[in-house]
Amino acid sequence: MMIVMRDGSSDEQVQTVIDKLHEVGAEAHLSRGEFKTIIGAIGDRERISLIPFEAMDGVDSVVPIMKPYKLVSREFRQEFSVVKVGPTEFGGESFVVIAGPCAVESEEQMVATAKAARDAGAGMLRGGAFKPRTSPYSFQGMGEEGLKLLALAREETGLPVVTEVVDVRHVDLVASYADMLQIGARNMQNFLLLAEVGMQEKPVMLKRGLSNTIEEMLMAAEYVVRGGNAGVILCERGIRTFETATRNTLDLSCVPLVKELSHLPIIVDPSHATGKHELIAPLSKGALAVGADGIMIEIHPDPRAALCDGPQSLTLEEYALLMDELRSLAPALGRKM
Ligand code: PEP
Ligand code: MN
Repeated sequence: MMIVMRDGSSDEQVQTVIDKLHEVGAEAHLSRGEFKTIIGAIGDRERISLIPFEAMDGVDSVVPIMKPYKLVSREFRQEFSVVKVGPTEFGGESFVVIAGPCAVESEEQMVATAKAARDAGAGMLRGGAFKPRTSPYSFQGMGEEGLKLLALAREETGLPVVTEVVDVRHVDLVASYADMLQIGARNMQNFLLLAEVGMQEKPVMLKRGLSNTIEEMLMAAEYVVRGGNAGVILCERGIRTFETATRNTLDLSCVPLVKELSHLPIIVDPSHATGKHELIAPLSKGALAVGADGIMIEIHPDPRAALCDGPQSLTLEEYALLMDELRSLAPALGRKM
């Protein structure tokens, strides 16, 4: 449930409520919005309901949260959250583009791609160092060497970097290099991994699972936020359907729906959703139009030679062209780029 504080309630009054919750073994999650201060109470419902909150100084009302996810719901927090990654902000007015190769392959590839990404206006750089591959015989990523090249690319360009963490044993290592931790589609319901990144300071990009509902994605995000890490960005990356013409089916309706249900930012990954480079531009524009907070796209200096996901990667030139198109569209949709 939520304890809604009166306008102008003091820090002391807020602390008294939090102390009461702790006394009955409940968790207290404080949300201080511009207009409202709300304390989310999570724990034994019966024990919490015995506390006479309404009689306490500074308390306005007590409201149950009806959704199964609590902290990520818009019931808990009406204002949209803004997640900052270095100088880049997700969830504000700006439409943010994350660009980079599927996998880090070499210093030359990474630095050239990073410079092109920055020059055309990307707000962040991507690149996989640990790759979750369907086949154990496919390229698995460069591991820590790849993380070092991402850090180098950041140094060269100033762009913050996001990279996937596939295993709880790697969380500290990946967090020591990356500015944002990516949880891939295949790990969206790896609850131990979610709890682990929930204890990190670095923001987390959580990709929708291949066969997961929107509610399941929000429940997964709840694991991370509940652990104390409020910096979560969701990512719609296509879901499995009967359609085989595309790698997955991009569920663009997920974006406005998530905006109704949750305060978390959400971006779209048209690369993994479609598997086809020729569909990236139209669906990126679609993502902008439906109100996504950004996109993540795969780009490569020579997609035909890419070690991973070449067919869905834009060349650096195609990417720059798309950025120009998005920049001209954004103002018409009330967005900045
Ligand atoms: C990726 O973005 O590198 C990736 C592997 O995507 P997904 O987890 O969505 O398949
Ligand atoms: Mn990929």
